[in-house]
Amino acid sequence: MQESLLKSCAAEFGTPLYVYDFDKISAQFEAFKNAFKARKSLICYALKANPNLSVIQHLSAQGAGADCVSIGEVRRALLSGVPKYKIIFSGVGKRDDEILEALQSDILFLNVESEAELLRIESIAQSIQKVARISVRVNPNIDAKTHPYISTGLHENKFGVDIESAKKLYIYAKKSQFLDPVGIHFHIGSQLTELSPIIQGAQKVAELAHSLLALKIELKFFDVGGGIGICYENEKTINLYDYAQGILGALKGLDVTIICEPGRFLVAESGVLLTKVLYEKYNEKKCFIIVDAAMNDLMRPTLYDAVHKVRVLDSKDLQNGACASESGVPDSIAQGANKSKADIVGAICESSDFLAKGVEMPPLAHGDLLCFANAGAYGFSMAHSYNTRPRAAEVGVQNGKAFLIREREKFEDLIAPELKFLSPQDLNKNTEGK
Ligand SMILES: *Cc1c(COP(=O)(O)O)cnc(C)c1O
Repeated sequence: MQESLLKSCAAEFGTPLYVYDFDKISAQFEAFKNAFKARKSLICYALKANPNLSVIQHLSAQGAGADCVSIGEVRRALLSGVPKYKIIFSGVGKRDDEILEALQSDILFLNVESEAELLRIESIAQSIQKVARISVRVNPNIDAKTHPYISTGLHENKFGVDIESAKKLYIYAKKSQFLDPVGIHFHIGSQLTELSPIIQGAQKVAELAHSLLALKIELKFFDVGGGIGICYENEKTINLYDYAQGILGALKGLDVTIICEPGRFLVAESGVLLTKVLYEKYNEKKCFIIVDAAMNDLMRPTLYDAVHKVRVLDSKDLQNGACASESGVPDSIAQGANKSKADIVGAICESSDFLAKGVEMPPLAHGDLLCFANAGAYGFSMAHSYNTRPRAAEVGVQNGKAFLIREREKFEDLIAPELKFLSPQDLNKNTEGK
């Protein structure tokens, strides 16, 4: 997206602000679809990466389905126009009411993550005299070689069931009057940059699918999860063509529709977080740039030490470091070890509140705009309101035009669920005479 456009977005909608390039999202979706075009396939966008209704609607219009991890996400998908037969529901902790609503909504299938959950689904299906389409999430015990917090395919992780147990669940489901095993699923982690763990996973799970065939359990869907990484810093990324070929190879001899659940791959690179500089400050040798966004807007650096490249929009002078003497720093500090490196931090009362660490920045003034890259996935979707900070607004850009897709949260939105519990006297005290 052009700098001038981003600047005018910040001027029009304020900061902090998320801006997503919808044309980039389309291009990513097309690339994914093309990689799998040789086979029956369905791309179910993993909503949790960015669940904005307009983003879902945009992807749905191109044919995407939805991978949901709560009934709220299922509702978002349905509201945004995703057909029910393209919606799947995953997650280790589905509540009874979520299962019930998913069955009543008649979505494609539920990904089952434990024996206890399978039994729960069966009894809920029975109570409404419906047959629940299910798929078992298999944990293939493979090291996805990603950050431990986003690795999900090892037995030490809470996700899925091991291969032997999965087989038992299929045999049970096959016999049940209220369960219909239609698919098989695995998802070994997120931000994957190596192909081989995924292919190994696919091979292991395909073996299971073959052995189920021998038991006359024919599955229609083979769900290979999501997890394709993007380049935040200098990571090598997985080539989509190799990915698709590897999956197709592993699934030889199985007549199945391939389901993919990409989240990050589709939206991460489309988005930026715009924030304004408030202050610069120096503690001994360290330089801090304090901005109007914080960890409540973008959690990834705090949560995973993730790196989002940052640049100044319309920077005046890239020669000098942020803490160089021109920007008013005492020379003694400017000559210190960290003279041109700064931490970019927010206003939240936590030392873990940072958006970037040790980055070289030019001298900045109050009101200068910073742009954090690759913030389209797990950015706004992880935002919260800690420190009573209303969440940012979101803007879409298509054909060079910007449009609001989520209003900036207001203080009133934050307090509304609490306000009614105040006694009327308390409410009036400070407004008397106004
Ligand atoms: C999070 C998740 C995804 C999407 O992961 P990405 O890394 O964003 O592609 C897909 N499937 C399941 C089950 C998930 O939990």
